[in-house]
Amino acid sequence: MSLTAAYDSQNIFAQIIRGDAPCYKIYEDEDVLAFLDVFPQSYGHTLVIPKRSAACNILDVDTEALCKMAAVTQKLAQVIVAELQPDGVQVAQFNGAPAGQTVFHIHMHIVPRFSGEGLGVHAAAKADPAELEQLQARLLKRLAA
Ligand code: AMP
Repeated sequence: MSLTAAYDSQNIFAQIIRGDAPCYKIYEDEDVLAFLDVFPQSYGHTLVIPKRSAACNILDVDTEALCKMAAVTQKLAQVIVAELQPDGVQVAQFNGAPAGQTVFHIHMHIVPRFSGEGLGVHAAAKADPAELEQLQARLLKRLAA
């Protein structure tokens, strides 16, 4: 998809925001939603999206939504690091298919990195639902602490 393509309200993240598709929710407020990536590149891979902005990427998102998404990304990165104790954490954001974007509703990736463990292939292998549920419970508990 090109950088200037129109927003498609049927994309999977728009469906998740509307409640038409499920997610392993980690955090939600009026403006931002965060949930586990179901094709994780590492244990704890989490996505953060703006709820009110029909934006494909960083070029068309409004600045306020971008800032709110960034603030939640920082907060959740702190929570994920505190709970999972990775050795590093990647925060990434892709714009346009040639840059690696596969879902065209702007989002941030939080990808914990563990020494000696490579990165899984992007958007490739589906995680075990039981493992995702367990991870969700751990992160929700830490967030509430
Ligand atoms: P990107 O390739 O940067 O657009 O990232 C999209 C991400 O969404 C990928 O890492 C996918 O694994 C992830 N993804 C796709 N469908 C879902 C879904 N239904 N629930 C959670 N994550 C998803």
